[in-house]
Amino acid sequence: MPRDPRFDILFEPVPIGPVTAPNRFYQVPHATGMGSRRPQTLAAMRAVKAEGGWGTVCTGYCSIHPSSDDEPFPSDTLWDDHDVSSLAMMVDRVHEHGALAGVELWHGGAGSQNFYSREPHIGPSSLPAGVWGPVQTKAMDKRDIRDLKQWYREAAIRAERAGFDIVYVYAAHWYLILQFLAPSNQRTDEYGGSVENRARLLKELILETKEAVGDTCAIAVRFSASTGGPDDDQDTAEPREMIELLAELPDLWDIGVRDYRYEMGTSRFVPEAGLEKTMSWVKSVTTKPVVSVGRFTSPDTMLRLVRQGVIDLVGAARPSIADPFIPRKIDEGREDEIRECIGCNICYTGDQTGTPIRCTQNPTMGEEWRKGWHPEHIPTKGSDSSVLIVGGGPSGLEAAVALGKRGYAVTLAEARRQLGGRVSLESELPGLRQWARVRDWRLNQLSKLSNVQYYLESVVDREQVLEYAADRVVVATGATWRRDGIGRSHGQEIPGWQTPSVMTPDDVLGGAVPDGPVVVYDDDHYYIGGVIAEKLRGDGLEVMLVTPANEVSTWTNHTAEQHRIQKHILNLGIQVKTGTSLSEIRSGGVIAECIYTGRTEEILASTVVLVTSRVPQDDLYYSFRDEIDIERIGDCLAPGTIATSVYSGHKYAREMDAASQLGVPFLRER
Ligand code: ADP
Ligand code: SF4
Repeated sequence: MPRDPRFDILFEPVPIGPVTAPNRFYQVPHATGMGSRRPQTLAAMRAVKAEGGWGTVCTGYCSIHPSSDDEPFPSDTLWDDHDVSSLAMMVDRVHEHGALAGVELWHGGAGSQNFYSREPHIGPSSLPAGVWGPVQTKAMDKRDIRDLKQWYREAAIRAERAGFDIVYVYAAHWYLILQFLAPSNQRTDEYGGSVENRARLLKELILETKEAVGDTCAIAVRFSASTGGPDDDQDTAEPREMIELLAELPDLWDIGVRDYRYEMGTSRFVPEAGLEKTMSWVKSVTTKPVVSVGRFTSPDTMLRLVRQGVIDLVGAARPSIADPFIPRKIDEGREDEIRECIGCNICYTGDQTGTPIRCTQNPTMGEEWRKGWHPEHIPTKGSDSSVLIVGGGPSGLEAAVALGKRGYAVTLAEARRQLGGRVSLESELPGLRQWARVRDWRLNQLSKLSNVQYYLESVVDREQVLEYAADRVVVATGATWRRDGIGRSHGQEIPGWQTPSVMTPDDVLGGAVPDGPVVVYDDDHYYIGGVIAEKLRGDGLEVMLVTPANEVSTWTNHTAEQHRIQKHILNLGIQVKTGTSLSEIRSGGVIAECIYTGRTEEILASTVVLVTSRVPQDDLYYSFRDEIDIERIGDCLAPGTIATSVYSGHKYAREMDAASQLGVPFLRER
């Protein structure tokens, strides 16, 4: 299909200093968990985005010097000539598809780790550095400032040699330059105090970089348009003064907000185009092009913001991860095929754990090089086998789509009236509406695959599997929450778990209405305990969230939302008791125990919701064992995240009829 002419404006070239972006689709710098440790993995991943039509593709944060080392978080580096050839691989692959390549030159200052380099942290003043570490920065003297400018210059020259078209001066996200810009800068010389003084270092670095490579590379500045997030105490007056001061110096302004947790907020808290109000004034104070993000997946939203003069370039990190082919799909009139980001931030957990990026919606993300997976292409079938998939949750649906695209004859049977499994149920919980996109994109794909049939309200048992006589059977029947309390903190059942007042998340998701007051006991530590507490509070019940962890939903630190969740839970009037486990459940309450002192107390509760761990629903699988060709996928194989389930379904489909691989099933960087 041809492109809808409404969207033509998105495909206009945009001059940026000495270079020209071929269109308005701009993949802003984003971390990958790959960095300089995995250059081939990185190059292949970025190349897929350029192939998918992103006119500009940037690196993640790229350290300019060992005094800004972020190990164990893998940043890119441009410390020496070896780094030039590593990053040149990415640049070349991006250029092959006609896109521009940008590099985000970074110095973390107090915000780096320096565990590996053992260099002292540097900063405008001597203040605490690293993540809760017992170290402080060395206050930079004039020589340090001169050195920093020299490091920036040298890194910019290396970037130019690697072939980059856009070089960033990174002045956001609480890294070194922002540490100078912020009022917490306590210097009394010409780099501290007034707005002009605090902005001096940024100005000098822009000029330094421009002088070094400005003839061939565009100079971009990443900058925050507010001092907080749009729903916190925030101020746009001072950032505005600073942009006005520097307005015409860079070739491009890349605009976010100072609160990174809002800028890349999950869909539970931040809507699409969530930064619009905070940054819509930026274009009125500069003639230079402006790019900004907003988890844009709707071409109409992109169009509106460009038309209204809010942005010149449509910035994206997560949307380009969930669907590297968004621009191509719009260009080819296939907007309905965009695999929309659900705003879950599983992608961020890769960076947070020092491992390559993973995505809930896009199971090929991070597998481009090591497994040769491509988000839009999959090998055709290797046999004429028919496949029966039992269960239509995220794993079963993904397997059906991927097998269908390979050309297999697929039948999917789902016990419930609706496909989607846990995604359909959980997306009804507060804040998780967009998670239904995991189901909806796959349903849309299935509607185009005549070789895949699905049946609802079809509970499949052993007899039916035999009757159906498919060549291959895959069991995607999910998992159920345990009722006995066994989990991370309890190797054995919690005494009293048989009390009728005990419920599980499955009961609540299934519509059971508990009596209050309710104790939600969260020993799972991801989102579900907190969301269930929120739902029950919304139903008007008195709720107490009890957890052995020291904070609510502690694993969501990896998805950059823990702080937000705890704030939200407290603001809703949910009582929180941390560092506490349950030693007994009784009718009318629980005995709670401090995990440190062992001291106990009784908490009155009419209902106790146990959010501890899950049991795979694998009876059907075990009823066969070796009799037929049968496999398990998703939560039925090993309960995990939705991302794990989608990946599991995809892997099963990719590997069907492929040569079996013993040993390491992927390439490794040496
Ligand atoms: P996963 O994340 O692995 O896809 P889910 O729990 O989300 O797991 O989905 C499992 C799906 O399997 C649910 O929709 C459930 O209704 C369905 N299911 C479970 N047992 C059967 C069965 N015996 N026959 C058909 N469908 C089943
Ligand atoms: Fe979007 Fe989640 Fe994928 Fe990240 S992991 S790109 S937030 S769908």
